[in-house]
Amino acid sequence: MFAKLVDVLFGCRHARYSFPVTIRGAKARRPEAATLTGTYVACLDCGKEFPYDWQDMKVITSPERHRERLAELAKHAA
Ligand SMILES: [Zn+2]
Repeated sequence: MFAKLVDVLFGCRHARYSFPVTIRGAKARRPEAATLTGTYVACLDCGKEFPYDWQDMKVITSPERHRERLAELAKHAA
């Protein structure tokens, strides 16, 4: 409870994540965080969900930067 309050006041650093969860199939409940890559992790401290990039083995904390990178890759592929 106190930790939650600290998160609200000072912001969570999201230092610990759950194991990445990959969502398969359109019928499954799809958390917003999973719409980007189909895989997401949850912060063990505050419970916030983040998209996860298996290829980079990285948590995507900034979807904007991820989209920019994808756009960049698409440019090189064209
Ligand atoms: Zn957190």
